[in-house]
Amino acid sequence: MNDEQAIVVVGGGLAAATFVERLRDRGFDGPVTLFTEEPHPPYERPPLSKDLLLGKETDPVVHDERWYADHDVTLRLGTRVTSIDLAGRSVTADGEQTSYDTLVLAVGARPRAFPMADDSGAPVTYLRTLDEALTLKDQLTEGRRIAIVGAGWIGLEVAAAARENGATVTVLEAAEQPLLRVLGPEVAAIFADLHRHHGVDLRLGAQITGISATGSGGVVELAGGDPVGFDLLVVGVGVEPVVDVAGGAGLTIDNGIRVDEHLRTSDPQVLAIGDVAHADHAGLGYPLRVEHWDVAKQHADVAAAVVTGEDASWSAAPYFFTDQYNLGMEYVGNPGPAGFDRVVVRGDTDASSDLEFTAFWLRGSEVVAAMQANDWDATDELRRLVGSTVDVERLADPAVPLAEV
Ligand SMILES: Cc1cc2nc3c(=O)[nH]c(=O)nc-3n(C[C@H](O)[C@H](O)[C@H](O)COP(=O)(O)OP(=O)(O)OC[C@H]3O[C@@H](n4cnc5c(N)ncnc54)[C@H](O)[C@@H]3O)c2cc1C
Repeated sequence: MNDEQAIVVVGGGLAAATFVERLRDRGFDGPVTLFTEEPHPPYERPPLSKDLLLGKETDPVVHDERWYADHDVTLRLGTRVTSIDLAGRSVTADGEQTSYDTLVLAVGARPRAFPMADDSGAPVTYLRTLDEALTLKDQLTEGRRIAIVGAGWIGLEVAAAARENGATVTVLEAAEQPLLRVLGPEVAAIFADLHRHHGVDLRLGAQITGISATGSGGVVELAGGDPVGFDLLVVGVGVEPVVDVAGGAGLTIDNGIRVDEHLRTSDPQVLAIGDVAHADHAGLGYPLRVEHWDVAKQHADVAAAVVTGEDASWSAAPYFFTDQYNLGMEYVGNPGPAGFDRVVVRGDTDASSDLEFTAFWLRGSEVVAAMQANDWDATDELRRLVGSTVDVERLADPAVPLAEV
């Protein structure tokens, strides 16, 4: 594409910020406008449930406003794009139209609502934005009763931060283990033990029958279990892709904005990246929508290459990380729709120990995903093993070094 072409980016997260950065790195000199409905320049979300809640110094903003000015990117903060005219190649925000030659949608995901909590009149919060995190941080104090609905990544990270700040924490999870669908029972049980070891009242198989306000807090009623009183209820029951504006414009929507491996939507002048993109994956051979930090960056790289004329495709292995108490973890790969049939765990999984282990998800003898916890030197081996066929007995034998599997 030539440098006279205008690029409009919609989004205030890591995908949008990384995309414009890569675009300028590639020498694209044309006009770039970035719209975000949030009042802050685009920022990363992982610190919001970790260091920020722990009161540690952290600056999640990817680039400050000065960077955008220096790189000749028009930054429209607090400005929501309300519609897209695909035929006329323009977006509307604040009643004004802005034309584009290429439009990049990096509009992310929003928390799935839990109406029973919202309608209860009790103090309830979700955690997606920087402003929500700053408010939540001040509430996770010594002795405060925090109830959390959902033992997914966000719920567990908030539980860990709340416990480390001295709050009393109850986590309510409908499934029989936290993170069960992603991790399977063996590794999910390690996370359950970790949280119980740190004093979380983890209620698994919990069926919430009602939530009511009492004084300044509230109570969660459970089928066949003791009610849980709280000062604050945190809801972490997953997210949904933000597809309203894209769908209204007529782009193909299917579990997010559907894109090909070049991240092009059903309109080739429009790309979608990050949490919102349900994308074909050139390596895995099936489409997936990933709600993780590294994939937002992978997509931004590919999209910047595509709009500057390269024949780039999304082929990097999905990756994510978490930090909870003393456990730092990285996970590489994706089992996909065919799933996994065996999990191999090596190392020390005892919650009262230093917790250093690796785990491998296998389909037959193929490693479809792998994790390391506090074993940072193992990451390169995990990346090497994911996607390969192994001798499962050797993998399961802790006496065989990973490098020799
Ligand atoms: C608390 C928290 C902790 C996380 N921790 C981890 C972690 O440890 N590891 C990990 O791998 N991943 C983590 N994630 C996930 C990771 O942050 C996401 O994958 C990442 O934010 C996706 O980036 P994105 O740019 O695609 O979307 P988002 O970050 O969701 O950004 C989308 C932005 O677009 C804006 N927007 C939407 N519609 C419009 C519109 N019409 N006009 C203007 N602006 C609009 C939104 O307001 C938002 O600012 C975490 C997420 C959260 C919320």
